[in-house]
Amino acid sequence: MSETIFTKIINREIPADIVHEDDLSLAFRDINPQAPVHLLIIPKKPIATINDITEGDRELVGHLHWVAAKLASDMGFAEDGYRVVMNCGENAGQTVFHIHLHLLAGKPLGWPPYTDRMKQA
Ligand code: 5GP
Repeated sequence: MSETIFTKIINREIPADIVHEDDLSLAFRDINPQAPVHLLIIPKKPIATINDITEGDRELVGHLHWVAAKLASDMGFAEDGYRVVMNCGENAGQTVFHIHLHLLAGKPLGWPPYTDRMKQA
């Protein structure tokens, strides 16, 4: 797959506000936050979309959720609640084709998360 901006963040070629790093993953603050806390949790292995996850990636994808739970606990919003979401493809609004969990927290979050554009469809 072609390199995305997230590979440049992993390689420190462009800056990011990194909140977690380990052998498998990186987590950093979204540049355009949609909640008081908006983190992106990514695998260091570039995988374009959920559709490209293979059986061999099962542990890695589970690891991303473990990082989400750890950050929620460490940053103090685990009990208040938060949302973890991964967009896949055009209809979900995916813009960066390197899978990433969005972790949103810090306020009550609306549900369902439709935009006006989606409601018209
Ligand atoms: P998607 O729309 O693919 O689910 O989410 C991509 C996210 O990446 C968006 O929320 C967008 O704000 C964020 N993003 C795009 N470019 C950058 C960047 O250079 N740095 C950071 N920290 N976030 C980015």
